[in-house]
Formats: sequence, structure tokens, C-alpha cells
Amino acid sequence: MYHRTGPEEKYMVRSRKNFLADLERLFRLGYRPVTLAEYGSNRMSLPRGSSPVVLTFDDSDPSQFSLKSDGTTDPNSMVGIWRSFEKKHPDFPVKGTFFVLPNGPFGRQEDAAKKLSLLKKWGSEIGSHTMTHRSLNKISDSEVSVEFGKSFEYVRKLGFTPDSMALPYGVLPKNRDLLKSAHYGGKNYRYSNVVLAGSEPAPSPMSKSFNPLRIPRVKAYDGQMGIHWWLDFNKKHPTKPYVQP
Ligand SMILES: [Zn+2]
Repeated sequence: MYHRTGPEEKYMVRSRKNFLADLERLFRLGYRPVTLAEYGSNRMSLPRGSSPVVLTFDDSDPSQFSLKSDGTTDPNSMVGIWRSFEKKHPDFPVKGTFFVLPNGPFGRQEDAAKKLSLLKKWGSEIGSHTMTHRSLNKISDSEVSVEFGKSFEYVRKLGFTPDSMALPYGVLPKNRDLLKSAHYGGKNYRYSNVVLAGSEPAPSPMSKSFNPLRIPRVKAYDGQMGIHWWLDFNKKHPTKPYVQP
């Protein structure tokens, strides 16, 4: 789970250097990127012997994806860093899941269409992160339904299939049934995959413990239960990551 990047590592900010190091370590360990929709539906076209990783980006911050004035990808944005990594490692393509807000997305209306068409071309996914980013346990059932329905339509308007949603702060609505069906504007809405905001690696989509409406994520930071803590844990403990047969 990523939010922003910058020159230095800070709360919610993965430094550029550390983001690149994350890609390098995941690559070395045999992980290959898939989207959340591919993982959730167990339709991952992974090379044999590799394991899936879903890189998710919340809030559509400009540092995730920006373009230079000549229209090329800013190499200092996360997508730019990933793109140049992909040039060296074509089997680690820019296939991420971006949970966007109505902030452009990525902060700028002017070049949003171009960014979205590039993400689509590369095989990335756009998912919902609601419209107003409020804690869903603090608002009414009908307000939650508006958030789910409106953001579903918003993602569709951006040209993507709204399969996936990230709950703001990982907070579930008081009425959990709204995750299965939310009524808005005369229609019922449902996301196939719903992610929380942290804690642990997600189980195999074929595992009994897999719940598509409560998918855990790993925070991309250096502390306890962060990405490297879990990758080290996997090395020390006999856990078995999903491996493509
Ligand atoms: Zn968020």
C-alpha cells in the first residue's frame, strides 16, 4: 500500500530510493505484478514459478503519476520510477491498482485523460476510494451508499471497470451489508474486491480464509509489519507464498 513519494522517507511518504528498492527486492524474490481484480478473481497470468504482488496506490496524489511539460512520464513520480524499472525488467510491468479520488485524478484535470489512457495501455487498474474520503463508520447508511454508487460511476466514467474499492482508513461501514449491495440513484452497487488499510499479506484467492470484501494489505514502510518486515518473516518462517504452477 503506497500513498506518496518524495526525496525523503516520511509518514505516508515512501522515498523514491525506497520505492525502487521495494521493486528490486520483490522482483528478486520472484514476485510479479498483477492487479487487484486479477488477484481477486484468480485470473493472474503469471509466469510459471512466480508469485503475485498487487501494488496499490491510494488517494491519486500527484507524486504517484505526473507528466513533464513535453508529455513524457516524470521519472521522479512512482509510475516513472516503475516504468524505468520495467525497461530493465520487462516481466515486471506497470500493472498497479490505483484507488483514485475525484482530484483530477492525480491532481491535474488537464492531463488526467492522457495518464488514464497510459495506465490502461500498461494493464493497470483504477479502483474506487469513495468520493469524499470520510470514515464510513461515521456516516449514515444512505451516505455510505452515495459514496459507493457515485465513485463506481466515477471510475466507469474514467474508462475503467469498477471492480475494486479501498475503504478510506480501512474503516468498514457500520452496516456491513452495504458492501454486498448499496442502493444509489435507483441502482444497486457492489465491488468484487474490497481492501483494508494494512496489517498482513493477503491469502491466496483459493484459500478458505480469502474474503474478497476484507482483503488485507501490507504497508510500504520500514517498520514492524511493513513490506520488508513481512518479506523477512517469509524468509524465517515456513510460510508458503502462492506460486504459479
Ligand atoms: Zn486514502
